Amino acid sequence: MTSIAVAGTPVDTRHFIGGSRVASDSTYTNTSPIDGSFLGEIARGGAHEIDLAVAAAKAAFPAWAATPPAERAAVLNRIADLVEENIEALSNIETLDNGGLIRSNRRGVMPRVAHNLRFFADWLVNHLGHPDFETRGHTNHISWDPSGVAALITPWNAPLMLATWKIAPALAAGDTVVLKPAEWTPLTASFFADLTKKAGLPDGVFNVVQGYGAEAGAALVAHPDLSRISFTGSVPTAKSIARAAAENLTPCSFELGGKSPCIVLEDADLDLAVTLAIEQYDNAGQVCLSGTRLLVHESIAEAFTAAFTAKAATLVQGDPRDAATDIGPQVHLKHLDRIKGFVDRASASGQNIVMGGTPNEELGGAYFRPTLVLEPTPGNEIVTAEVFGPVLTLQTFRTDAELIALANGTEFGLAAVVVSGDRAHADRITSQLVAGTIWVNCFFVRDLRAPFGGSKKSGTGREGGTWSFDFYADVKNTVVAPTGWADDK
Ligand code: NAD
Repeated sequence: MTSIAVAGTPVDTRHFIGGSRVASDSTYTNTSPIDGSFLGEIARGGAHEIDLAVAAAKAAFPAWAATPPAERAAVLNRIADLVEENIEALSNIETLDNGGLIRSNRRGVMPRVAHNLRFFADWLVNHLGHPDFETRGHTNHISWDPSGVAALITPWNAPLMLATWKIAPALAAGDTVVLKPAEWTPLTASFFADLTKKAGLPDGVFNVVQGYGAEAGAALVAHPDLSRISFTGSVPTAKSIARAAAENLTPCSFELGGKSPCIVLEDADLDLAVTLAIEQYDNAGQVCLSGTRLLVHESIAEAFTAAFTAKAATLVQGDPRDAATDIGPQVHLKHLDRIKGFVDRASASGQNIVMGGTPNEELGGAYFRPTLVLEPTPGNEIVTAEVFGPVLTLQTFRTDAELIALANGTEFGLAAVVVSGDRAHADRITSQLVAGTIWVNCFFVRDLRAPFGGSKKSGTGREGGTWSFDFYADVKNTVVAPTGWADDK
């Protein structure tokens, strides 16, 4: 079987290498988290398929690198056109594969996929650049040259959105790409590969190798012919990639986990604070940026908790294909077990679970009830480790100093949400937070012109706008002396 029908749309289950479909000797089984149903057998790649894909990308590199920026941008825009024509199919495939809400995929996620492509095409042609400047009469000219083969490794929580957040700048920069999608959610990447071909992207410029566990990913990051590795995923995997990359000194970009604070100051509007806190359950809590630690001023903690639990009780959990659903399943039964493990250990250690705390077995799939842990014991793993599920903790604070110590008191530094009615107070807090992105009185507003990334263990580097090109390209300065030209004489 080389292709499966997902929500009526055929999706190839083989790798995409050098513009052709390539099978493997073995496969692995892909199921839907909605109800555990069988989706298909996926080609299971390893070192052999990675060698083929890197060789294809390496062979395609000189011609793609030499393609004028405007032409590279035109191909990206054609891929974006095809994504827009296929929003319904892509949304259905993604929802069946990772359990994300169909309404979010249709309205937000898939349009954003197209936007990722258009944005970096436009940035390449219209915004990338730095004015020349002089040093003692010498001209400095900065350029962003294609660097080679970029290895992209992506997670399952927003599969195609996060993949195109890497694919678009890498291709725009003139690199060629080998993508290794997460094993639980390979389908939209495969469908997307066909769109790149239809859009006229030359064979070998974009390749996809599927794999199970570390097999394909580990072979990819150890490959000596890479110019870049861009990885979004967990801290332990990043450490192992960094070790492999060290052998070839391959530059890495890491977008990793978080345990971000959602801070409610004493001057906050309570309704807004509750609305934003509830949003931290988005995508069933499987969002790296989630403010999973609610930090609430003690003067309003009681009122906040009452309003929060009342609002959480109205959330509809169920089939993500239903437009009325607010919280769908976790990505996989194994991930559900991991979340359950965290909550069970919290419970066994005496933590106060005031809401949820168990799988929602009535629904039949990988569903976990939205959960709240009140005043966890400092240092307990429920408040230090990334659960990556619909599990929030709530801690109170009295002074700003106490708040800052709590907010910055984890190994992560990805994001923060601050809710406040006093601009000066909010400013004082945000200036002291360690985080790559801070939202004040809002959540998830994300502009690709802005830098994105994590501090501390949440990642290395920043992407977005020119920051992305700084990573994928070889940035070069050419210094030209004012004299020495034939026409000087
Ligand atoms: P993961 O680290 O388990 O896997 C990520 C990817 O790495 C998968 O494609 C996997 O197959 C691959 N992989 C596994 N072992 C490998 C190895 N040894 N070498 C190379 N590749 C390997 O992460 P996950 O569970 O898929 O994703 C969840 C994590 O991703 C969370 O920690 C979350 O916070 C993080 N995340 C971060 C961001 C961000 O932008 N900062 C966004 C989304 C998710």
